[in-house]
Amino acid sequence: MMRARHDELPDPVQRNAQILLLATVLGLVLVLRVAYLQTFKKAEFVAEAKSRRAKMRAIQPRRGDITDRNGVLMATTRDVRRVTFDPDRLPRDSSGRRPSRGHALKVARLLGSVLGMRPADVLNIILSTTNRPGEYDRCKIIKENVTAAEEAALRWYSRKQGYKDLVKGTVNSVHSERIYAGGDSSTALIGMTIPSAYGTVVGTGGLELWADTLLTGSVGWMQARVDPAGVPIPTATERVISAADGAGIKLTIDINVQRICAAALAECMREHTPAGVTAIVLDPITGDVLGMVSRPSCNPMDRSALSKGFEQLRNRALMLYEPGSVMKPITWCIALDAGVVTPSEVFACPGYRMLDGKRINCEAHRSRTPGPGENIARMVIAKSCNTATVGVGLRLGARRLVGGLQRFGLLTRTGIQAPGDKAGWVEERKAVEELKRGSTARIAFGQAVMVSPLALAAAYGAIVNHGVLMKPRLIQAITDAANRVIHEYPTEVAGRPVSAWVADEMTSYLRTCVLKGTGKRAAIPGYVTGGKTGTANKADPDKGGGYTSHMASFIGYIKAGDRPIVIAVVNDEPHNGYHGSVAAAPTWNRIARELMLHWHVAPTKAVIGGKLADATGSDGND
Ligand SMILES: [Zn+2]
Repeated sequence: MMRARHDELPDPVQRNAQILLLATVLGLVLVLRVAYLQTFKKAEFVAEAKSRRAKMRAIQPRRGDITDRNGVLMATTRDVRRVTFDPDRLPRDSSGRRPSRGHALKVARLLGSVLGMRPADVLNIILSTTNRPGEYDRCKIIKENVTAAEEAALRWYSRKQGYKDLVKGTVNSVHSERIYAGGDSSTALIGMTIPSAYGTVVGTGGLELWADTLLTGSVGWMQARVDPAGVPIPTATERVISAADGAGIKLTIDINVQRICAAALAECMREHTPAGVTAIVLDPITGDVLGMVSRPSCNPMDRSALSKGFEQLRNRALMLYEPGSVMKPITWCIALDAGVVTPSEVFACPGYRMLDGKRINCEAHRSRTPGPGENIARMVIAKSCNTATVGVGLRLGARRLVGGLQRFGLLTRTGIQAPGDKAGWVEERKAVEELKRGSTARIAFGQAVMVSPLALAAAYGAIVNHGVLMKPRLIQAITDAANRVIHEYPTEVAGRPVSAWVADEMTSYLRTCVLKGTGKRAAIPGYVTGGKTGTANKADPDKGGGYTSHMASFIGYIKAGDRPIVIAVVNDEPHNGYHGSVAAAPTWNRIARELMLHWHVAPTKAVIGGKLADATGSDGND
């Protein structure tokens, strides 16, 4: 009945609301007013220009940069000089329909010699009836990255008797090209751009879309006299309305963390050939998102690599999914905090539990029931016992359980500054009063509830941060074109879902899960790691809504010295093993190890000396 619904496209209403908020903060109203005046005045100018044989030209604003937390450029803009040709300017042949081939050949010879190209290639471009990317019928791109000398030479020919007729139709233009430093590691996060009017670009997907208005700035106008070839004479400029360059964005992201995650996810894609996989690296003390990567991905500078559904632009860290057992630590935190269970209470588990005539199986204790005194809260988390979790879920009841999920921020939007941030929900968005016992039981172990990997990572952040939930932050600051900070996003406490002792107790259970439970593959000798596996059935709407595939998760922490860092890995429809322990924990491990190397965190003797569990053990899977 539940459907694993994923965010396909950012909700426009939500995005607009976010942008509107930003706009207010930044006094965008003023910018819009300037833009309005420019538009208004433009018409006036155009009329005037026509009467004086002058020409209106747009002045492009420079699109703002996106930098990582250390100021490393992740997206930047460079100007590209381009020469285009309008085939409509060619004289017609004797039929009067097609451009004269003889004339076209002369044009091709001249342009070829000036631009260092083969005349045959130029001819092909001029006479081609199909358009390349960025071209339209009356604007054939002859050459990109034209040098100033080549441009000057063209200008010279345009004034020279005997040549200027050939050069007629040639246009020198400057357009913006967006460069992405992170390669394909950050495509879903940063997004891409597509060419728009006046040689500028417009954002599509990710932050390029979310902050498009900010990044774009506003176009300026210049009214200039032109020479007979239509080339503006710079010294004869009459009126100018300046362009306003776009704002810059400083992220909380570390581009190296992006690369580390991207490499680990690429390996995961090879091993498990899933539909997709995501990784999040979060600083739970500040809420800063240090890494947020989704795969499949593509080079953001190559739009032709985008698949039909723009899959590579989908930020999987924000997709809603049924998480499965990674929810158990949250449920148990709520239960411990409410006092309906104590850390020492022992739960019997015969391997299943009947509820309203339906059987709920316990994967952990299917083949081996827990020994006397064994199944206490710590071991329920470590082994992922469903029966005990259903027990505490029912003791809590729907109201307290759902209320707890709300306090952990799982059923509201995270507030992250990115498109696609959606609120989680429980069973078909039902109100608490409508939830039956069976639903409450399922929610307790992570079914019949939809949450995003980012919201879960933040909730785990609250656990390892002594019960303090931080609002995830992706943007540190907005800067103006001169790199001055014009708006800062502060770190924000989002709430205190549970008391510190409960959070600390659960942090220690997560450690036990890695040492003795289902999370052994997240163990790293010399480092303190803790976390929880999750394996959820995924409903496939295309196959009648039945559960046919899986979502594998591992969410946990590694201590970088005294500082915990939360890492979440969610694997969508993995093959070659579908449990969280095999399809997510090893990827998590790779990321955690690489981060320790990147941050120069040395292993500690105390942990090496401690008994580490055999990481290859098959002691439970979920
Ligand atoms: Zn059990």
